[in-house]
Amino acid sequence: MSRRFQNPATVALHGAGAAARVSGSLAPSIVPSTTFLREGLDDAAEYAYSRVGNPTVSALESALGALEGGAEAAAFSSGLSAETTLLLATLRAGDHIACGRAVYGGTVRLLRETFTGLGVEATFFDSTNAAALAAAVRPSTRVVLVETPANPTLALTDIQGAAPLAHAAGAILIVDNTFLTPALQRPLDLGADVVVYSTTKFIEGHSVAVGGAVTTRDGALADRLRRVRKSVGTIQTPFNAWATLQGLRTLPLRIGQQSRHAARIASILAGDDRVGGVHYPGLRGFAQADIARRQHLGAHGAVVSFEVPGGLAGARAAARAVRLCSVVEHVGSVETLLTHPASMTHADVPREQREAAGVTDGLLRLSVGLEDPEDVLADLDLGIDAAAAAARSEGRPPCLVNA
Ligand SMILES: *Cc1c(COP(=O)(O)O)cnc(C)c1O
Repeated sequence: MSRRFQNPATVALHGAGAAARVSGSLAPSIVPSTTFLREGLDDAAEYAYSRVGNPTVSALESALGALEGGAEAAAFSSGLSAETTLLLATLRAGDHIACGRAVYGGTVRLLRETFTGLGVEATFFDSTNAAALAAAVRPSTRVVLVETPANPTLALTDIQGAAPLAHAAGAILIVDNTFLTPALQRPLDLGADVVVYSTTKFIEGHSVAVGGAVTTRDGALADRLRRVRKSVGTIQTPFNAWATLQGLRTLPLRIGQQSRHAARIASILAGDDRVGGVHYPGLRGFAQADIARRQHLGAHGAVVSFEVPGGLAGARAAARAVRLCSVVEHVGSVETLLTHPASMTHADVPREQREAAGVTDGLLRLSVGLEDPEDVLADLDLGIDAAAAAARSEGRPPCLVNA
């Protein structure tokens, strides 16, 4: 695609280029073939076998790389298979990884249960604090992994501050950018070495395809990553790559509108005295507003979290009472989704680590969709009322703010 077109809305629509098309089709095509014909034995074919590479997967990678500002991209069968393949390509037994403590629960499980068994030691630190990062690295640290905004408290890591600290320790900085996507945050431009995505979330956006991706401007690392992907077999399927590319084409439009809805909902919740701490980077008074302004591209994403009264009983009552919000373990779809992190996404994270990361029993996470935000607010009102009633019947104060 011509270099003149750099606006994300344009790049998202046209970034896959001619590679996505067969026989002049306007829409991207699917090439589901597992294998590819060769002219003879001497020439090197562009594609040989779909565990190694596939035209539909390449089309998604071209579009995602273009949206990330001209990076190399590799697509995987899930966000966790992207992380797994990336860590296999960058770590070996005896190495240490310093990981932000407020990351996706599956990332914690992967490090604690799988990589520890392979001789890679993982420790967790408060990535909102530069001194904690400096204290977390060791001579054996090869990777610093952070997620910003963090899941589910939306705490931010200053990428421009973290990158030189990681590099001084001889480590690369990996950023999980699933919550903002390249439409709203470009970690490579801020000094990160690698970005990882669960494309299952906002990038695909319609809850039909599990997938993951890695982007980087380090060509040698991209080659190593594809080599490991070939060895372990973690590539995206053609069908899911096609569905993800369809979603990606409207990503800037969707996440922009969903962010506007989230900002409206967060500001109303923040003024509701039944509700405890409301976390949203675009909220007036957000503790890290300066980082949000510097790091986010004009909007702050669609995820809001807040605390209902009544702890676990309150959260249960709210989840039963809502009618429009879908209670699921997911973010980033066109519908509004409600999650209870303590019993769902973070159930496998030890309680002590969970609470240190701000995941209390009454915390709910909302992934704001494309419904009219006033309808979502009316639905949340039912949930918050039910939580307050549960809190009263347990003899708890109805509001947690100053409890
Ligand atoms: C969902 C998610 C993952 C894991 O991705 P899958 O596609 O479910 O494997 C990783 N990081 C974040 C922030 C996520 O939300």
